[in-house]
Amino acid sequence: MKIEVLTLFPEMFEALNVGILKKAQQNKLFELNVTNIRDYSLDKHKKVDDTPFGGGAGMVMTPQPLHDAINAVDKDHKCLRIYLSPKGETLSQNLVKELAKEENIMFVCGNYEGIDQRVIDLDIDKELSIGDYVLTGGEMAAMVTINAVSRYIDGVLGNSESTNEESFSDGLLEYPQYTHPQVFEGLEVPEVLLSGNHQNIAKWRHEEQIKITKERRPDLLK
Ligand code: SAM
Repeated sequence: MKIEVLTLFPEMFEALNVGILKKAQQNKLFELNVTNIRDYSLDKHKKVDDTPFGGGAGMVMTPQPLHDAINAVDKDHKCLRIYLSPKGETLSQNLVKELAKEENIMFVCGNYEGIDQRVIDLDIDKELSIGDYVLTGGEMAAMVTINAVSRYIDGVLGNSESTNEESFSDGLLEYPQYTHPQVFEGLEVPEVLLSGNHQNIAKWRHEEQIKITKERRPDLLK
């Protein structure tokens, strides 16, 4: 998969160059290219924002640098072009799985009060939100999405089972996990997990999944 990011703050994406994602990029499992929108500004001071028509608080990102950057990076419109926006479809594990099937994705990060609507009308395929709250910019939202999507790219996670048995994968939250030591601060690991009986362990884990999902996210059970 090839991922293009358009942002005013390219340095933020260094945060994706650590741990599993760094290794995945080194192993060419996916490619991440980050472009500075400001480099495409034709303004002599490299300005990328202006006051909103109609008045109101804050600044809006002007269309020219964004439109030119998008169409320079993705000349033939091969990318699914996503604008991170609180007005977009909310990210879910199902949407993550769908996005992981794409070969080319572009994430356009807004800042200030957002971007000129004409860029959305002309150049964007999909608006995506990471939740019902407002961030200062789309960068963190893009990083959250890239991180979640990359876990579904073949070879990124060491153990292919890792995405099968976790929260949301089967519409339930995950069961509690335990590791060594067997007793910690007086708390013991549930006995069934020490039994070696895989059927009983699977049954216990499934019951725990239902219990925790009922308590915390009854909406998932519907
Ligand atoms: N004025 C906009 C509104 O009320 O919908 C909010 C603009 S926000 C301060 C600046 C940028 O942050 C947006 O252009 C968008 O790219 C990003 N952003 C903010 N909240 C987001 C969210 N929940 N999901 C995805 N992107 C978000």
